[in-house]
Amino acid sequence: RQELKVNISETKRSYPIIIANNISSQIGSLISDCYRGNKVLLLSDANVSGLYGAGIVSSLEKAGYQVLEYIIPAGEKSKSYHYLRKGYDLLVDNNFNRDNLIIALGGGVVGDLAGFLAATFMRGIPFVQLPTSLLAQVDSSVGGKTAINHPAGKNMIGAFYQPEMVVIDPVFLKTLVPREFKTGMAEIIKHGLIADQGLADYLFERSKNVFKLEKDELSHIIYRSCQIKAAIVMEDEKEKGKRALLNYGHTIGHALEAVTAYKKYNHGEAVAIGMLGAVRLANSLGLLEKSDLQFTEELIRLYDLPLGHQEDPEAIFTALFRDKKVKNDSLRWVLIDRIGNAFIREGIDHSLIKRILEGLL
Ligand code: NAD
Ligand code: ZN
Repeated sequence: RQELKVNISETKRSYPIIIANNISSQIGSLISDCYRGNKVLLLSDANVSGLYGAGIVSSLEKAGYQVLEYIIPAGEKSKSYHYLRKGYDLLVDNNFNRDNLIIALGGGVVGDLAGFLAATFMRGIPFVQLPTSLLAQVDSSVGGKTAINHPAGKNMIGAFYQPEMVVIDPVFLKTLVPREFKTGMAEIIKHGLIADQGLADYLFERSKNVFKLEKDELSHIIYRSCQIKAAIVMEDEKEKGKRALLNYGHTIGHALEAVTAYKKYNHGEAVAIGMLGAVRLANSLGLLEKSDLQFTEELIRLYDLPLGHQEDPEAIFTALFRDKKVKNDSLRWVLIDRIGNAFIREGIDHSLIKRILEGLL
C-alpha cells in the first residue's frame, strides 16, 4: 500500500491519497478515519454502479454506515445542472447536513459532479474520491477542481474544493475499455513530459507491462502521476501560476475537441495530438532537441494514441482563441525544453502555429 499526503497551504488542509490493489473493499473502515457521521451518499454512474456498487455498499454497511445511492447515467452529459439539482433534492429529502459525507465512485464525470455537489451543499460537506477510471485515478480525483458543464462551455460552473481522502484501487481498471484506459495514459505521459524524465523513461521502457494490470508497473505509474500532480497543486491550488503547466498539450487538445464537438476524439486522444504539436512547436523555436521530439512521438505511438488529425487547420486555429483560458487574445503555450521541464511561453508567431497545425494533418 502506497500513500501520499496532499497539503494545501492556503486553506491549511491536508488529505491522503491511498493506492493499493483491492483497497476499495476496505472503504468502510478507511473512511472512519476521517468521518464521524453515520450517513453516506454514494454517487456513481450506471456502468460503475452495476459493476462495483454492491461491493462498496456492503463494505460501507459493514462498517455501520447508512448508504443512500445516487446513480446518474454514464457520460459527460450527466455533468449538468439537472443532475446537480437532483443531488441537492436527495440530500435535502434525506436530511443530510454538514456532518454527512458524499463518496464519488466513478470516473471524472462522477468525481467532478459529486465534488461540486459537496462543495456547494450547505456551503460545503465532506467528500471522498473513489476514482474508477484511469483518468480519474491519475488526474481528475487529485487537485480539487470540481465542476459541472454549462451549454456555453465545459466546466463553466465550478469550485476548488478538496476531498477528505482519495482511495485508488487499480483493480477497478480491469473492466475499463481499452480506449478509456489509453485516454488516462495520455495524462500520465503528460506528467512525465512536463515534470519527470524518470517517469517518461519508465513509460518508454515498460510499455508492454503497463497494459498488464496484474503487474506492478501500473500501480507505480499511478503513484508517480498522483505525486507529480499533487506537488504542482500544493504549490498553486488556484491556478495562478505553476498549475497551468498541467495544461500541456491541452491548448491544441481543447481546440480539437471543440471543432469536432467532443465526438471524434476523446480527451486523451486530443491531448496526445496536442502534446505532439507542442513538442514540434518547441523544436521549431529552437528550444527542444530533435531527439526529444522523436522520443515523445515514439512514446505516444507506444501507447497507441493518435499522432495526427484530419480536421481543418484553420478551424482549429480559430478554436484556439475561444478557450476560456485565453486572455487578451494572447495564447499561453506550455512548452518543454527537455523531457521533464515545462514552462509557459506567450506571443508565439501565428504563422508558425498554423504551420504546426497543418503538419499534424
Ligand atoms: P467518465 O467519468 O465519463 O468515465 C468514462 C467511462 O468509463 C464512463 O462510461 C464510465 O461509466 C466508465 N467507467 C469508469 N470506470 C470504469 C470501470 N472501472 N470499469 C468500467 N467502466 C468504467 O470519464 P473520465 O474520462 O473518467 O473523466 C472525464 C471527465 O473528467 C470530464 O468531465 C473532464 O472534464 C473531467 N476532468 C476533471 C479534471 C479535474 O481536475 N477535476 C481533470 C481532468 C478531467
Ligand atoms: Zn486533461
